[in-house]
Amino acid sequence: MNNEVIMNKIKKLQEMINESNEIVFFGGAGVSTDSGIKDFRSKDGLYNQKHKQNLMYMLSVDCFNKEPKNFFDFYRENFNCLMVQPNITHKYLKKLEDVGKLKAIVTQNIDGLHQKAGSTNVYEVHGTLYENYCLECHEFYSAEYIFNSVEVPKCKCGSIIKPKVTLYGEMLPEAYSQAQQIIYEADMLIVAGTSLTVEPASSLVRMFKGKYLVIINNDATFYDSKATLVLNNNLKDVFSNLK
Ligand code: ZN
Repeated sequence: MNNEVIMNKIKKLQEMINESNEIVFFGGAGVSTDSGIKDFRSKDGLYNQKHKQNLMYMLSVDCFNKEPKNFFDFYRENFNCLMVQPNITHKYLKKLEDVGKLKAIVTQNIDGLHQKAGSTNVYEVHGTLYENYCLECHEFYSAEYIFNSVEVPKCKCGSIIKPKVTLYGEMLPEAYSQAQQIIYEADMLIVAGTSLTVEPASSLVRMFKGKYLVIINNDATFYDSKATLVLNNNLKDVFSNLK
């Protein structure tokens, strides 16, 4: 696609944003890749086919219960985002919230980067690594506490601590049903950095009844035909050109 086509699409997107007042942003792993976080499902991501079964197990509630030491070794090695910083997409969305246009962010990411950028209304449909609770007494523990631990992280009461991250085999958090409602009420939905191939992503998009559905993703998605505007570009190339 040539540059002029891209710039025209970005101009259209800008007009839609200018016109809308109840915008919801729904993002996936691609939102964080510009911050240096690997996309689980990309070719060189954690989920490359060869290890897929194993990795799904490593992130399952089964593994957490049966082999907590292996679970936390894997978790600490792959999910430590403490030093990661928000990128231009996170920062743009914070700006859009400040001017009163962005109603909410719905994210599949657990890295907390939207909050780091200053966004306040964030629905984390797969949970967050920033909240950790003792399974017995429900005492709160920070992400630092988990990532700086060496063994299975334990509460002062002696019980195991669990990250509030949705594992395979677990129910989605309360934020998921709230996200459904917020998307249902939006006048514009910007979907970015997600292939929309897995649930609950596609179900969330189906909730949208507003005017403009915009999809920004490197590759085509299943919902492209239903979208008002599709941009198959890197997120930073799009968001760095928006006001
Ligand atoms: Zn406890």
